[in-house]
Amino acid sequence: MTGVSSPLDRFRQPEYTGENRCIPCTTVNAAIALVVSAAVATLNPLVGTAVLVVCGLAIYLRGYLVPGTPTLTKRYVPDWLLARFDKADLEPDDVDVPEEPEAVLLENAVVHPCVDVDDLCLETEVRAEWRARMDDLREGDRAHQLAAFFDVKAETVDLTVDDHVTARVDGRRVGRWESDAAMLADLAAHHVLSARVAAWESIPPRRQGMVAAGMRAFAESCPACEGPISITEDTVDSCCRSYDVRAITCEECSATVLEVTQ
Ligand SMILES: [Zn+2]
Repeated sequence: MTGVSSPLDRFRQPEYTGENRCIPCTTVNAAIALVVSAAVATLNPLVGTAVLVVCGLAIYLRGYLVPGTPTLTKRYVPDWLLARFDKADLEPDDVDVPEEPEAVLLENAVVHPCVDVDDLCLETEVRAEWRARMDDLREGDRAHQLAAFFDVKAETVDLTVDDHVTARVDGRRVGRWESDAAMLADLAAHHVLSARVAAWESIPPRRQGMVAAGMRAFAESCPACEGPISITEDTVDSCCRSYDVRAITCEECSATVLEVTQ
């Protein structure tokens, strides 16, 4: 998919395919395609096969077949079922660990119940360590820092920046962050957590990433510019669901520190 365009690209709907593909829409439409082409095949096997190929191509390129599928899915497929599809791409190691990142932070005295409000607050020492580590890393080269973190050669690390920052090692995706500020916060958090969380090394990397990201919910200033941060809540319509998105954003450099989708 690197800049090579084909006549088929005219039909592509990137908002419904690739990473944005909606599994419920694809499943429903694939079932419809199978039923229709099977029915046609009973009359004429050759035409039935042709229908199946055309439908398959349409679903592949456009994300769905029946016009208006995303709207219909959003309206008629219950939310709990749609949420289940979203969880399907979690790795098995997450399934065995029911603990919320917050629980890990609480158990290991990274956060504690706040004195004045009904919430959790960062341990004073943790806050200082985290901030100092972010200061150390802020101006450095992120690809080199990631290479050191994963213990690989810097040439094997590739960072892509679009609306997120995606890190790959040897072409394999190893992490994705809301912004450089978020990545910086997590690299620093890993350092702090490895010294505090019991048996940190034995926690699967993906899970470690979730705990580090969970720490960002307790950020008190912007990791990138140390400016004040604020929390916004928004409802976003994606392909076939409406999401509530809570975001922590920097008021000065507008970096997204954390984005949580529900
Ligand atoms: Zn900022």
